[in-house]
Amino acid sequence: MNVWRRLSGPRRALAITGAGALVAGGLVTLPVTVAHAATQCEVSYTTNDWPGGFTATVNIKNIGDALNGWTLGFTFPDANQKVQQGWSARWAQSGQNVTAQNESYNGSVASGATVSIGFNGSWSGSNPKPTSFTLNGVTCTGGGGPTTPPPTTPPPTTPPPGGPRVDNPYLNAQGYVNPEWKAKAESVAGGNRVSNTPTAVWIDRIAAINGTPDSSSNGAMGVRDHLDEALEQGAGYIQFVIYNLPGRDCAALASNGELKADELPRYKAEYIDPIVAIQGDAKYKDLRIINVIEIDSLPNLHTNTGSNPGATEACNVVKANGAYINGVGYALAKLGAIANVYNYVDAAHHGWIGWDSNFSPVAGIIKEAATASGSTVNNVHGFIVNTANYSALRELYFKVTDTVNGQTVRQSKWVDWNQYVDELSFAQAFRQELVSKGFPSSIGMLIDTSRNGWGGTARPSGPGPLTSVDAYVNGGRVDRRIHVGNWCNQSGAGLGERPKAAPEPGIDAYVWVKPPGESDGSSKEIPNNEGKGFDRMCDPTYGGNPRNGNNPSGALPDAPISGAWFAAQFEQLMQNAYPPLS
Ligand code: BGC
Repeated sequence: MNVWRRLSGPRRALAITGAGALVAGGLVTLPVTVAHAATQCEVSYTTNDWPGGFTATVNIKNIGDALNGWTLGFTFPDANQKVQQGWSARWAQSGQNVTAQNESYNGSVASGATVSIGFNGSWSGSNPKPTSFTLNGVTCTGGGGPTTPPPTTPPPTTPPPGGPRVDNPYLNAQGYVNPEWKAKAESVAGGNRVSNTPTAVWIDRIAAINGTPDSSSNGAMGVRDHLDEALEQGAGYIQFVIYNLPGRDCAALASNGELKADELPRYKAEYIDPIVAIQGDAKYKDLRIINVIEIDSLPNLHTNTGSNPGATEACNVVKANGAYINGVGYALAKLGAIANVYNYVDAAHHGWIGWDSNFSPVAGIIKEAATASGSTVNNVHGFIVNTANYSALRELYFKVTDTVNGQTVRQSKWVDWNQYVDELSFAQAFRQELVSKGFPSSIGMLIDTSRNGWGGTARPSGPGPLTSVDAYVNGGRVDRRIHVGNWCNQSGAGLGERPKAAPEPGIDAYVWVKPPGESDGSSKEIPNNEGKGFDRMCDPTYGGNPRNGNNPSGALPDAPISGAWFAAQFEQLMQNAYPPLS
């Protein structure tokens, strides 16, 4: 059928005439249906190359009978091509011959279905694509060898929108699907229900700018690879996370980074400047490039310094030396100078700065950063809340103004005098606060809803009993965490709202910035070369610290380091998705 769409003008007319002639002559030939199990396949093989390395995506389409177990085979044309690390199949190489055998979860492939597998490889000289593939020993003829895979998302019907800046970059624009996350999501059964969702690309170290093939957490594609791929997809917007401040993650250890607290010059010269050079390339001028700026940084300067109970020495240092303020200011000034770039600064979440004592002071610190290092508030397009956190979007069964037996729910253990009980109300209020501090009234908020769904069997269906404020709040709350300060791989969480533009007043979009299934931190010490530490908030046996009211961490066991793929968590997130997955 597809053939007809490719034919045009005279050829099309000819083809129709030809078919008609056959019918007229009674010579209709139908495809023969074979009685025995026939293997027929079509393979597409695409790569993203950089000097010495590449990522290959191999899509195997089963155009024969249903398969129960499969082995793909191909031969590298060049002796220097090597598979280094593969996924979604058991990969092996002998000489130039490569095989990929199904994993237990993707061995059954229905007729017409496609399995996507991939690997990171190395090359030298040149990186030619294999010309022939076999499946269970049978040559795949369907695609006639390497083919160009269909775009992951349909091409837009109108030209992609670009600069000058629009008020809401998410509106009427198709989001970029990160193929590396997509492949990981599809490596888990049922992951294809969400794998075409736009997620952010985290530039979490200098090496990530050009791609990090040897990294245990991030993908091999660099910033340019993602932008090129976004153009290929015909995407309207792409989302990056700028995440490499000196002395990063000063109140926790799981996402400590590569730059020491005194390395602001390196942050500028080796991290921000090269990103600016790439994002500013005229080739990408029609893409809306969205940068989420430095999550979990500025609020620490208030809540985790000085005499505060959660204070750490590392936060005191970056407060005193100005690394966060000047780093964020520099990033905003440089990135904000690119016409099609949209900067959204991280603004924590209600369970961090929803208290009166934090709310306004943190807005003030953000303003200070937005006007540091030559930046102005106009470099800020908006703010994001709940990044990589688990706070519920909406608490449906209690409000902050409710009272029980004459006591306000703010007195409950869970709310603990916070002014907000969910992210939507917090985001809208914090937006106002930021405007009152001098940010333009056009700013919009983003809410990371990647993992705040809280569906599944533990989700309450109505308010808790009116016996006490605690019973009322605990019985009715959607957010099932042990404590609102818990942040690592939360047990029981689910995927939240799917990305959506302009869902509520003041909100530019619900977004998936933390790619679901990527760990928040390891549950025990795991040596790594990314500067990642071991934070016991990721250890399910930990009893907590002042920042979570000394409660158990609520973390899932057996987690890998932050950023690395955590299939068991992804399974649970899908299971507890809210809205549920169909
Ligand atoms: C990690 C990053 C990772 C990101 C997204 C963060 O916690 O520190 O390395 O890219 O999560 O998964």
